[in-house]
Amino acid sequence: MMTAAFTETDERLSLRLEVAKLAGGYGREFFVRQARSGGKTTDLWLDMGRHGYLGVAIPEEYGGGGGGIGDLAAVCEELAAQGCPLLMMIVSPAICGTVINRFGTTAQKERWLPGIADGSMTMAFAITEPDAGSNSHRITTTARRTPDGWVLNGRKTYISGVDESGAVLVVARAEDARTGRLKPCLFVLPTDATGFEYHPIDMEILSPERQFTVFIDDVAVAADALVGDEDAGIGQLFAGLNPERIMAASFATGLARFALGRATDYVKTREVFDVPIGSHQAVAHPLAQSRIEVELARLMTQKAAALYDAGEDLAAGEAANMAKYAAAEAVCATVDRAVQVHGGNGITSEYGMAGLLVAARATRIAPVSREMILNFVGSYTLGLPKSY
Ligand SMILES: Cc1cc2nc3c(=O)[nH]c(=O)nc-3n(C[C@H](O)[C@H](O)[C@H](O)COP(=O)(O)OP(=O)(O)OC[C@H]3O[C@@H](n4cnc5c(N)ncnc54)[C@H](O)[C@@H]3O)c2cc1C
Repeated sequence: MMTAAFTETDERLSLRLEVAKLAGGYGREFFVRQARSGGKTTDLWLDMGRHGYLGVAIPEEYGGGGGGIGDLAAVCEELAAQGCPLLMMIVSPAICGTVINRFGTTAQKERWLPGIADGSMTMAFAITEPDAGSNSHRITTTARRTPDGWVLNGRKTYISGVDESGAVLVVARAEDARTGRLKPCLFVLPTDATGFEYHPIDMEILSPERQFTVFIDDVAVAADALVGDEDAGIGQLFAGLNPERIMAASFATGLARFALGRATDYVKTREVFDVPIGSHQAVAHPLAQSRIEVELARLMTQKAAALYDAGEDLAAGEAANMAKYAAAEAVCATVDRAVQVHGGNGITSEYGMAGLLVAARATRIAPVSREMILNFVGSYTLGLPKSY
């Protein structure tokens, strides 16, 4: 008998259940308590690492599970679906783990991957710069070659989790790139390096994970800080950014599932005109609409992950952008609807729905904004003239 092509494997489905069980033991209450008290999610993170969930996509020889981005995306989604959306899932195992695994030397893999897999060496990722913003072709962080290695200078902004990371994968421009075209090089910088400073940015997002401005002031690193080929260019960078988009989509669909679950439970029991409010179509339809939108976004995310894991980078890039777009739209609409069906309770701390708004909203901006995705689909997919 043929199996349905759109069904995940039993292994993937049981991974989802296991992660949901572990994350559910911490739950939304833990996440919010840590966020409000200035605490961290280290216990959950290390627990995830111990169980092998952070490292599912890292090869077994480096301490991982040997799976793919589809598995890691499932982990990220299930965490978020339990109310624990972790941005560092997107950054450390997905971007940094992928880039080092695909382009690092054996020595670099041995040095960094086991810690990324077990959670003991979280790695942040820094591309965004204050003056370049979405236009990453304009980044000015430079790497100058020295007899011993490299010296880096520059400034990055909105970098997540630097305080929880032992190192940062920094996108810089080799100083001798005279063409003016983006020729990004990737360097691993330890967060305790001399000349490396970071300051928290006050954000309105309810999360224990924080964003930082990073100052890189004559940071000297050895030659082996460069990951991959100096001349490999943008393809190498995008090998990390496609998993980022797939993971961001999973973060969003997971969060949407969490909000929708809470909203659905609430409207089944809340009665104001003698019947549960969920029996009014004005309440039920927006939630049903969300269910459809979230399922569509999940399907596109799974397609993007399957393409990526099959090595089809170009097709995966297009699908990952579409998935990220769809997931961000779905979570923004879903959280808004979840707030609305709770009435006044929607904006109380007790019910915690409004506390999801900024995290949901952030998925429309980061890691790539909805407008930049529309630009990409307009020019790449539809073949329209490039507008910028
Ligand atoms: C919570 C959070 C975590 C983050 N974590 C990280 C991280 O760990 N590492 C990292 O490197 N970065 C991180 N970022 C940065 C994020 O990737 C950027 O915020 C994002 O790429 C947008 O850049 P920007 O903020 O400079 O906005 P801008 O580029 O200034 O854009 C502002 C607005 O203008 C629009 N716009 C700009 N150009 C165009 C155009 N040509 N056509 C149409 N619209 C356009 C954008 O879509 C956007 O709506 C994070 C951001 C947030 C919010």
